[in-house]
Amino acid sequence: MADAPNPLLQPWATPYELPPFATLQPEHFAPALHEAMRQHRSELDAIAAQSAPATFENTLARLDASGRLLARLESAFHNLCASETSAALQQVQREMAVPLAAHSSAVYMHAGLFARVDALHERRARLDLTPEQLRLLEQTHRDFVRAGARLTPAAQLRYAELMERLATLTTQFGQNVLADENAFRLSLASEADLVGLPDFVRASAQQAATDRGLSGCVITLSRSLLVPFLTFSERRDLREQAWRAWTRRGEHAGASDNRAIVREILQLRGEQAALHGFASYADYALDNTMARDQAAVQRLLDNVWQRALPALERERAQLQALMREAGGSDDIEPWDWRYWAEKVRQRTYALDDAEIKPYFPLERMVTAAFDCAERLFGVRFAERADLPVYHPDVKAYEMRDRDGRVAGIFLHDNFARPSKRSGAWMSSLRQQTRNGGEVIPIVLNNNNFAKAAPGEPTLLSFDDVRTLFHEFGHGLHGLLSSVGYERLSGTNVLRDFVELPSQLFEHWMSEPAVLRRHARHVGSGEPIPDALIERLNVARRFGQGFETVRYTASALTDMAVHALPRDRVPDDVVAFEAAVLRERGLPPGVGVNHRFTHFQHLFAGSGYAAGYYVYLWAEVLDADAYDAFVEAGDPFDAGVAGRLQRHIYAAGDSVEPGATYAAFRGRAAQIEPMLKKRGLLQPG
Ligand SMILES: [Zn+2]
Repeated sequence: MADAPNPLLQPWATPYELPPFATLQPEHFAPALHEAMRQHRSELDAIAAQSAPATFENTLARLDASGRLLARLESAFHNLCASETSAALQQVQREMAVPLAAHSSAVYMHAGLFARVDALHERRARLDLTPEQLRLLEQTHRDFVRAGARLTPAAQLRYAELMERLATLTTQFGQNVLADENAFRLSLASEADLVGLPDFVRASAQQAATDRGLSGCVITLSRSLLVPFLTFSERRDLREQAWRAWTRRGEHAGASDNRAIVREILQLRGEQAALHGFASYADYALDNTMARDQAAVQRLLDNVWQRALPALERERAQLQALMREAGGSDDIEPWDWRYWAEKVRQRTYALDDAEIKPYFPLERMVTAAFDCAERLFGVRFAERADLPVYHPDVKAYEMRDRDGRVAGIFLHDNFARPSKRSGAWMSSLRQQTRNGGEVIPIVLNNNNFAKAAPGEPTLLSFDDVRTLFHEFGHGLHGLLSSVGYERLSGTNVLRDFVELPSQLFEHWMSEPAVLRRHARHVGSGEPIPDALIERLNVARRFGQGFETVRYTASALTDMAVHALPRDRVPDDVVAFEAAVLRERGLPPGVGVNHRFTHFQHLFAGSGYAAGYYVYLWAEVLDADAYDAFVEAGDPFDAGVAGRLQRHIYAAGDSVEPGATYAAFRGRAAQIEPMLKKRGLLQPG
């Protein structure tokens, strides 16, 4: 069949030009990607080779519209690798990592292309551009500069080497963490080992054993298994064992030791920043954010840290009281905290999963998310069972706008399976643009909910519902995008702005009016009682001291280590991290969200390096933004929702984020609503 045409390189004759999932095979990707890269290069060469002087249309607009085939192939490829992978796809992934990275470098170091972009940028004030066109020019120019376009040829060579070495190191870092997580197995052999674990934890532990060809139950270092184990297991000795293994991932001699890798990554990042003329990697990374500089990030972290410490001690007192009541006299250790916090939660708020989950069947919660989007933004979702998808569990929907036009396609992939990576995320197969003709977005949401037995409804926890709404908020950011150019479309915003639409959308899932309408008992159809809504919402505020201290501690170590100049990177990164936490006064018995040797946000890629703070930054925005609805007295106030759609969900990166936020809110964001939401405004 050597002559059979590659379906990826034929026109995609599917509805909405979805990828031809039914016919494509892993071996189609490498040749198609190579061909798409070749086409992209020749598109770029043609832009650069024009004899006419650079104009916005002949350079910027064409550049923005170039590489569409490559973008679509890469999107299809990366989505399959994440959600429906196989050994064959993983092989292609390893094979293609370097060529794809090299292609990206070559684009931004294309001297002829950059000369034209740079010439336009020089004259930008005199080009008579629309605000969005000016933003496109500025952001595109910045992309080139930040990827090394301005460096001397010798420095560019070194820069490309750095990028290649960093790609290798960050890949290795992630694989080492995964190896440690898979290597550890805490076998729970008897009922005595399982004591305290609710059915859903036992079921996951059993599934983990089955996945590994074992019988009985095992706890691995997968977060979704480990955290419930630490929360419910009555066996303090086993909790300690699991906790120690979890926090030592990447930190021990042997093949998966990440300590030297972290050090080398930090050195290379220091060199990368220095090539750009920055004193530290933090300065380089923050130059392209809303925060802009270290001082702004530090102010936020310091403010929250000093309020979180007393909140934590208030929680500790509650935990300790209960612990003493139960006859314990020890200090609370990090492997005890979640366990006793759960006991306090159960006693104070009388919350029990068995009582809660029947009110949250998955299907109803999906309807709830769609309904909120409809009431806010006038969009309607309708299932299209005939659209091609990559797995039978994936549901496809058309999203119609107020005028009844199909404005986006949404694929919802909710269930865990062995071929899918863990976690929850939004991605897309195609981004909205009007450059070169109207293109509607194709957006995906992936979750990892445990699927119920055949014929049974899948029931979610309150946390699961929040995850569903969070990812759908990202999804709406992609689906409602209404901009002229792809580079500025949807979620292509600054990284400390990207969590605003997602975290903001979570607010609607805890609105009593939404819960009363949609959270109905799977058996009786009765709406969730008001008293239970109240308990759920109050209980969510308990534990914020613990969560905030652990998160902020990790954000502080991230900033501290990336603020070092390249010649001050410590030999012993573990000791450096401990010293920062000591200096900051991390209280005993709490721990941190991530330690350097397994901090994937920082070292399994560069997306969140000197950027772990972004969730908190965006939370300042989302809490302040939701207050606009509270002030209006209606969670679906049409005026506020209209501004929210125009300035936040539809605007992409077409307007500078601070300005677009102020256009929505009528002023800059204030920090108090976030502090209040986390319960950090009470006197210590
Ligand atoms: Zn998110």
